[in-house]
Amino acid sequence: MADKRAERIAELIAPLRVPPGTRVDLARDFDPRYKAHLKKRQGRELLRTGVELLAEYQARLAAQNTYGVLFCLQALDAGGKDGTIRHVMSGMNPQGVQVSSFKVPSVEELDHDYLWRYAHHLPARGDIAVFNRSHYEEVLVVRVHPDVLDRQRLPPETRGKKLWKRRFRQINDWERYLTENGITVVKLFLNLSKDEQRTRFLQRIDRPEKNWKFSAADVRERRFWDDYQRAFSRMLSETSTPWAPWYVIPADRKWFARICASAVLVHTLMELDPQYPTIGERAREDLLTARRELEEQTPEGTPDDPPPRSRTEG
Ligand code: AMP
Ligand code: MG
Repeated sequence: MADKRAERIAELIAPLRVPPGTRVDLARDFDPRYKAHLKKRQGRELLRTGVELLAEYQARLAAQNTYGVLFCLQALDAGGKDGTIRHVMSGMNPQGVQVSSFKVPSVEELDHDYLWRYAHHLPARGDIAVFNRSHYEEVLVVRVHPDVLDRQRLPPETRGKKLWKRRFRQINDWERYLTENGITVVKLFLNLSKDEQRTRFLQRIDRPEKNWKFSAADVRERRFWDDYQRAFSRMLSETSTPWAPWYVIPADRKWFARICASAVLVHTLMELDPQYPTIGERAREDLLTARRELEEQTPEGTPDDPPPRSRTEG
């Protein structure tokens, strides 16, 4: 049963993974409307399965307390990051997940090397960290808007044409270091079409309960659409690695994007295959000693306690 589910999940996400070392052209290689012949109704069931599996694997990850998982979400405005996080996380234990949203950096953050603020929010062993926007903004918004780079006050000898190539290398090295230390890194890009972004912006303007999500700056940023597509294509080409792959999630249909995001996370956890720790002979004896002590305290007249071994959970 679990194997069958694992197989289905692996099949669903395989076409979304960016093979390391390939040159990606987003418009040519990935269709924002792709939905793998699924119907919305089948999708609902799949999402439920995903949420259940996540809960199970998260509990094992926490109990094993050896690996952490970093889940990076990137998208343009209205790409669906917030909704994806809400749905995918719905079955998880809040104690083991931290969501960090990265905005325009503060003065203090700008006074440090560019990865500093992200390092602060990495997951502990046993935990899952979600980055809503991530260190990848450092090769996206920072690349599209040169004045943002100016504010980073880099030493002059590090500026120039080679800067982006170097940043890609540094990010790959950082993620490799994390992976080699038990922190698994997975990256999702929600790939939205320009038309669908327009539709979602219009809804944000027209529906009062969505107004708070809209800012005039979003429409200004949309003017840089082509620059962003180029920056995303380069990012995907340079930083999908064997140790930290990128997945391009078709994002025009929210329900499908959510299924895919949940499937990637489940797949990652299944590959890690965390196990509940088993206890040794000594610890087992200690447990039995404690049990005998508790038995001696059974109040008069109460029914017998359940015999040992009859309860394996709890
Ligand atoms: P939102 O996610 O809609 O709250 O917007 C956050 C804003 O912060 C976006 O406009 C991002 O482009 C911006 N942002 C995130 N990271 C950075 C960064 N490293 N440098 C500059 N701007 C950033
Ligand atoms: Mg926004």
